[in-house]
Amino acid sequence: MSQHILTAVAWPYANGPRHIGHVSGFGVPSDIFSRYQRMAGNKVLMVSGTDEHGTPIQVQADNEGVTAKELADRYNRVIAEDLTGLGLSYDLFTRTTTKNHYAIAQEIFKGLYDNGYIFPKITMGAISPSNGRTLPDRYIEGTCPICGYDGARGDQCDNCGNQLDPIQLINPVSRVNGETPIFAETEHFMLDLPAFAEVLGSYLQSKQGEWRPNVLKFALNLLGDLQPRAISRDLDWGVPIPLDGWRDQPNKRLYVWFDAVVGYLSASIEWARRSGDPEAWRQWWQNPDARGYYFMGKDNIVFHAEIWPAMLSGYNGVGARGGSPGSLGALDLPSEVVSSEFLTMEGKKFSSSRQVVIYVRDFLARYDADALRYYIAVAGPENQDTDFTWQEFVNRNNGELVAAWGNLVNRSVSMAAKNFGSIPEAGELSDADRALLERSRNAFGPVGAELRRSRFKNAITEALDVVREANKYLAEQEPWKLKDDTARQKSILHVALQVVDDAKTMLTPFLPGSSNKVYAMLGGQGVWSGMPEMRDVDEDGGEPYPVITGDYDGAARWEHQPIKPGTPLAPPVPLFKKLDPKVVNEELSRLGE
Ligand SMILES: [Zn+2]
Repeated sequence: MSQHILTAVAWPYANGPRHIGHVSGFGVPSDIFSRYQRMAGNKVLMVSGTDEHGTPIQVQADNEGVTAKELADRYNRVIAEDLTGLGLSYDLFTRTTTKNHYAIAQEIFKGLYDNGYIFPKITMGAISPSNGRTLPDRYIEGTCPICGYDGARGDQCDNCGNQLDPIQLINPVSRVNGETPIFAETEHFMLDLPAFAEVLGSYLQSKQGEWRPNVLKFALNLLGDLQPRAISRDLDWGVPIPLDGWRDQPNKRLYVWFDAVVGYLSASIEWARRSGDPEAWRQWWQNPDARGYYFMGKDNIVFHAEIWPAMLSGYNGVGARGGSPGSLGALDLPSEVVSSEFLTMEGKKFSSSRQVVIYVRDFLARYDADALRYYIAVAGPENQDTDFTWQEFVNRNNGELVAAWGNLVNRSVSMAAKNFGSIPEAGELSDADRALLERSRNAFGPVGAELRRSRFKNAITEALDVVREANKYLAEQEPWKLKDDTARQKSILHVALQVVDDAKTMLTPFLPGSSNKVYAMLGGQGVWSGMPEMRDVDEDGGEPYPVITGDYDGAARWEHQPIKPGTPLAPPVPLFKKLDPKVVNEELSRLGE
């Protein structure tokens, strides 16, 4: 039965290009999942965009002498290019500076406010005396009042680990311009998270056995200490607060995290409008049979397992204060929060400032997207922090992609193409033939089951096992020695090509680019698995901006399909580049330190 699947992918912050740590957390895993779900016959809506508001972008823009919008424009395009280059099949990758997004973020605010889950509060805010702007907590540095460490930040002390308020710091200094901030009363809105303690508790308990244990454990632990959370800031860059007396205040905006999490919904609504059926988003958001999967790195669990479900509940009128759904109607909570752990780089944390970083665009300039996608699937931070090393990348590329999968494709297709020109017919099958065919056909079930649960490492390992067994089969059967027994040679190559076809299908979610090549080599016509593209769009004739979208309804189906004898074979092209071991030292010398 076809199901509606929302793939909600974390929104990259538009302050720089993406590095491979970012895309190993949210990007590649969400695409593997979405491609599998489409192949399994489900109706996938995969949405995201760049997160463009907030103080860090404002600060960086000030430093560069450009406006926040100009900075966001630049990195929105850069990030969209990075993600398109990796083949990530977004139905819509948009941005938070659209009119549509402003309207939906304000609608969610109003719904929560009308139901009593948002209340005003006077707080002491740090302000930069020279420009009157609020200084965000983490841009204030000083001495920790608890342990005396002199590099404590306004939100926490990295030395003793205690949470702080900026006003507690001794000798606070702005990290932006070195000034001593002044503290002044300022009115803000708070989201009443404690009012959702019960709702969130039963919501999370119902996910036992379903979510990755690390994610659920983390989310359940947060429940013990739910505090009201500020949802507005003194800042001129962001979504205005949609209340009389607030709407026109130039220095009061929604806190960037509040508008960013609404992006999943606003992007779905934008997608529906662009698709020609403005109500179509409701099938993914107001449908008891639909499922919503949210992909992110573990630093974002709190927003997706706690705060966003609380916001949706409050908008729906479900929480300690009751209420009724807002004008969009009641909205579905996430079915699953799929969080990855962190990727480190040669034993160190990624750091753009210290040049411990590999940007996606630099990577793609030298290596294929599928090589990185493979590494992330098989060795990425799915369940624990993992380390990217160039040595392992080269080893896996050469040993697994090139020597195992590429070699199987190349020798099966080239031998069959050279000797017969088309897919040969099988004669009587031997036990070994039947065993391999069965092994391959039977792998669809277990590999698919792992993919449905976002267990990507298990899934690709199982698929690669089939490839290894096929290589072993060819080594044992030695079809190249059977020049005088064409009938037997045809049978062996038929079996090998059938397994190549099966394996190409099972590897498509992970390696769409090379699977498309294998499809064409085996005589496939048309598109197998669609690839994303960037397009410039606008709102009501306004300023154009790029989005990622695509037509992903290719021929790819998650099933064994019998190959057809007589289908002409295209001459094989190399699937993957074999890397010179010297690459390791070249890449290490590019890294800083
Ligand atoms: Zn401290």
